[in-house]
Amino acid sequence: MVVNSVHWFRKCLRLHDNPALQEALNGADAVRCVYILDPFFAGAANVGINRWRFLLEALEDLDSSLKKLNSRLFVVRGQPTDVFPRLFKEWNVTRLTFEYDPEPYGKERDVALKLSSCELKYVAVCYSNFLPFLFCYRIIEMNNNSPPLTFKRFQTIVSRLELPRRPLPPITQQQMDKCHTKIGDNHDQLYSIPSLEELGMHNLCFHVWVTSLEHSRVNTCSLYASPTGLSPYLRFGCLSCRVLYYNLRELYMKVRKRCTPPLSLFGQLLWREFFYTAATNNPNFDRMDGNPICVQIPWDQNPEALAKWAEGRTGFPWIDAIMTQLRQEGWIHHLARHAVACFLTRGDLWISWESGMKVFEELLLDADWSVNAGSWMWLSCSAFFQQFFHCYCPVGFGRRTDPTGDYIRHYIPILKDYPNRYIYEPWNAPESLQKAANCVVGVDYPKPMINHAESSRLNIERMKQVYQQLSHYRGLSKSSYQRAKCATPFMLRLVWIRAVQYDPLLKSKPCSPSSSCSSQSSSLGTKRKGLSRKVRRGQRQRGRQYCTLTAREEATGQEETMEEDMEQDEERMEEEEETCAETAGQLE
Ligand SMILES: Cc1cc2nc3c(=O)[nH]c(=O)nc-3n(C[C@H](O)[C@H](O)[C@H](O)COP(=O)(O)OP(=O)(O)OC[C@H]3O[C@@H](n4cnc5c(N)ncnc54)[C@H](O)[C@@H]3O)c2cc1C
Repeated sequence: MVVNSVHWFRKCLRLHDNPALQEALNGADAVRCVYILDPFFAGAANVGINRWRFLLEALEDLDSSLKKLNSRLFVVRGQPTDVFPRLFKEWNVTRLTFEYDPEPYGKERDVALKLSSCELKYVAVCYSNFLPFLFCYRIIEMNNNSPPLTFKRFQTIVSRLELPRRPLPPITQQQMDKCHTKIGDNHDQLYSIPSLEELGMHNLCFHVWVTSLEHSRVNTCSLYASPTGLSPYLRFGCLSCRVLYYNLRELYMKVRKRCTPPLSLFGQLLWREFFYTAATNNPNFDRMDGNPICVQIPWDQNPEALAKWAEGRTGFPWIDAIMTQLRQEGWIHHLARHAVACFLTRGDLWISWESGMKVFEELLLDADWSVNAGSWMWLSCSAFFQQFFHCYCPVGFGRRTDPTGDYIRHYIPILKDYPNRYIYEPWNAPESLQKAANCVVGVDYPKPMINHAESSRLNIERMKQVYQQLSHYRGLSKSSYQRAKCATPFMLRLVWIRAVQYDPLLKSKPCSPSSSCSSQSSSLGTKRKGLSRKVRRGQRQRGRQYCTLTAREEATGQEETMEEDMEQDEERMEEEEETCAETAGQLE
């Protein structure tokens, strides 16, 4: 029987380490490589121009790799369920291959396709169980069939696992020759990669996708985009995480004379893997509602404040510069993501992480369903990380990372003539200086939309109430506790009302645009300075008593201390707060 394969590229836009593509080639007489793009969906989707651009570049790259093997990429316009039945008939297809997509949208799409393909009796739908990560399901199996919810536990399991499957080699010319498909003269006319204009995007001047070749500790340089920023390539599957894993491993063993590399070498990849694992079998991972691992926090609804944050108009240059970079380039450094995520949620504005996640989803090149939602839950203390006692200071954190403020000058040129001293808090500059710098705060650049010291203190109190309430439920039976973890927002609103009755301080509205960050933070700073690190660590430990564990982990007595990373994060946050407070003190 003649085997005519179609391989459907989706998230593995590559010829190396691609088991589903290998399956398409296996014993086939003809193979066509297809990418499906629905121009209508392209216009409507929550995907920014930079990500489209990246995708189109990845497709160009894939097409040119296929050209080298005397093949081509067939980019077909339409929806999979409409397109495939037509192609199956036209090309006499007998086999369709694609890789498994674990995201809820992908799962739904694939089920619909399989159903409609079944009607076309002769097409064998082969999907590879291959996953875009290293271990995932093995980890879940080894954790009593549920995803571990702390990174420490995750690492413990990983350390017990055998190495991930080795990556498959790239497709060879010889393989392709065996199933060569004639490419029509009108291929470019029918199956070309669309332009951004065809996708309805005309605002090309925004694209500033920059790359350079250094990677270093966090400093001014690392705030700018770099090609060692691998996340978009991993996200679109241009690079296999297994290839990255084994290359790192081999390099290490060469340098260290065959020593087994430490787990920490793969730290970043493991974080990615951690969120993928946690999202497995949780279709509500990207929302609060119905999400069993997400603490239901009664966030405020404040569309105006959300818009200011998303558009980089908060009046805090550090936050505004990051959001501007995100909008222009589609990439921001990991710690910059921390800064703006904390500011939006538990730090300052008390707006739900879901709103922030959606903005990231639109603007990030590397926007990834699991990692994005997981990181937002983490940063907002809604899951995984519950040390709400410290918030990033939108002044001090930036100043420490980039003392000269050049990053701000780059993204907010209106502030370019401010001296280093005031660049992070221009509202504190004397009026004469503001005029001389051609940027008067409140006229040419917004006033800070919130009093950071006051709002972060208030928000910490709010979080404390939420966690206290949860810890109260821990004292109840396991099932009641589980119910409490899944408490509806309504229920937590009740908790909140009770908390307000208990502590009238919480009544004050946290999001009122007000005076400077520094004048307030100085009083906080003086107070905090009196506390030694040791005392604060004790505070944190007491705070952890509020922390939730899953009922299962609790039941099996696997209570764990929080990971070292988190400790470091906390220490860093403390230092940042101190710096912010100290600076404020000096300026007063
Ligand atoms: C609020 C928030 C949202 C985020 N959203 C995303 C997202 O949608 N997609 C995404 O890929 N990353 C996301 N991250 C994680 C992280 O910020 C990026 O992966 C990282 O900044 C990408 O830069 P890089 O490629 O230079 O990473 P590198 O430091 O070079 O790391 C190599 C790879 O490891 C993975 N990785 C690194 N750090 C993390 C991390 N903390 N969590 C998960 N994976 C990690 C990435 O795939 C990355 O490309 C988010 C972080 C935060 C705080």
